Amino acid sequence: MIDRREFLKMAACLSASFGISNFPGIVNAALKKITPENTPQLIYLQGQSCTGCSISLLQAESPDAVSMVTQYSKLSFHADLSAASGKQALKLIEEYISGDAGEYFLAVEGAIPWAMPEACVIGDKPFADYLTAAAKTMNGAVAVGTCAVHGGIPAAEGNLTDAVSLKEFYKRKGINPLLIDIPGCPVHPDWVWKTIIHLAQVGLPELINGRPKLFFQRKVHELCPRYHDFQQEIFAEKLGDKGCLFKLGCLGPDTYADCPTRWWNGGQTWCIDANAPCIGCASSQFASKKNFPFYRSFEQAMIKNSEDNK
Ligand code: SF4
Ligand code: SF4
Repeated sequence: MIDRREFLKMAACLSASFGISNFPGIVNAALKKITPENTPQLIYLQGQSCTGCSISLLQAESPDAVSMVTQYSKLSFHADLSAASGKQALKLIEEYISGDAGEYFLAVEGAIPWAMPEACVIGDKPFADYLTAAAKTMNGAVAVGTCAVHGGIPAAEGNLTDAVSLKEFYKRKGINPLLIDIPGCPVHPDWVWKTIIHLAQVGLPELINGRPKLFFQRKVHELCPRYHDFQQEIFAEKLGDKGCLFKLGCLGPDTYADCPTRWWNGGQTWCIDANAPCIGCASSQFASKKNFPFYRSFEQAMIKNSEDNK
């Protein structure tokens, strides 16, 4: 974890370094083949999101976020990090999306308000219009986070905007661009940056259900260090107890992600290590139903499952 002071220092450093292609940094051996010439341009746009995924991306460890942004990904625009703002930022985005600025990948964080385009604008134009235009010029798009992949919290039951995922947006438009889904609320920085490195160095990574297989092939439950407790029926009865968290509504059995082996915050911890159930932040169920809160009892989870099976 970085504290606020370190975050501001990093953000200032990132802002200052935008536009400089040869930012010096520690070169990870695995990244030596990447040169300024073959790094893809990346335009990072945000729709209906809380910016949590962007904050998570700044927690990258190896390589660190500054190296990723300035050296390996050629992030040409990000609303929170770019020095460019106002008309200058709009011009930059337009240049890429019109195809005049060369090849690029799009990264999209957040959902898209299908029924209320004016709910999310960049400048005075709906976010949705940028996405429609980008489909004609981009090499592909990476949907960053559960909001972009499944709709997430903006698409929760009762929302007025009919928030949809990037995939659903393009499906409704009848467009079929190359998409890579990286769910998570927030995303793990490795999942995004390493996918982008793969795109730069070797091309499209192997996908499973539209997600990079490397990170989303197996369920949290399958890799969980408490799986043995599950088999032995040693269950936690309340938050903070040791034992399998299944009876506290753990969604590890329904969630594909490699958190148990990757860990979070630079390898310091992860949800179940902190005695908290997996709340399925990378699953399509996340935040979708009013009567299915993040933390729930075993009984609530069973009622929900029986309702779904009707
Ligand atoms: S804690 Fe959750 S993920 Fe781990 S074994 Fe129990 S149910 Fe599965
Ligand atoms: S363990 Fe579950 S809730 Fe925690 S980060 Fe991984 S997928 Fe999300």
